[in-house]
Amino acid sequence: MSIEELNLQIYSCKKCRLWEGAKHGVPGEGPVSAQVMLVGQNPGSDEDETGRPFVGRAGKYLTKTLAEYGIKRENVFITNIVKHVSPQNRKPFDDEVKACLPYLITQINVIKPKVIVLLGASAKETPRLEGIEYVQVIHPSAAMRFTNMREKFRQQIAELAKLI
Ligand code: SF4
Repeated sequence: MSIEELNLQIYSCKKCRLWEGAKHGVPGEGPVSAQVMLVGQNPGSDEDETGRPFVGRAGKYLTKTLAEYGIKRENVFITNIVKHVSPQNRKPFDDEVKACLPYLITQINVIKPKVIVLLGASAKETPRLEGIEYVQVIHPSAAMRFTNMREKFRQQIAELAKLI
C-alpha cells in the first residue's frame, strides 16, 4: 500500500469514535524515504484545523529545535499514534489507540525509518519493530513550557542529530 492510499483510508476512517468530533484526519507528513520518523500521541486543535501534524506552538518549537541541530523538518516523517483529535484534547482511550495503531504500523513498514523518535507519552504504545533504533525524548510542549525540561530536550535532539 502507498502512503497516499493509506492517507485516504485515514481520512474516511470510522473505526473508533474520534472521527465524529474531528474536522480533519491527520495522517502525518514527510518523505517516504525519511530516515527519521517522529511519533506523537494525537493531533491537537491546530492540527485538526489544518490536517497537518505538529503545526501548533509545540510543533513550531519542535521544528525550530530540530533545525538548530541541522535536522530539517522536510526531511523527517512526522505523525501520531492516533490520527484524529480527541474531545478537549484528552488522552486517547485504549480502544481508540488499538483501533488506530495499524495505520502507524503500516507507515513504519512503508517508510522503514532508521530511527523512530518517541515524543513524550507516545512511547508506551508505539510498536517496537526489529531493525529500528528507538529514541525517546521529552514532548516538545513540555520542553516549551518548563524551563527545567528545555535543556534536557535540547540535549536529546543533539544526540538524535548525531545518529543520522
Ligand atoms: S482515530 Fe484512528 S481509528 Fe479512530 S477514526 Fe480516526 S483514523 Fe480511525
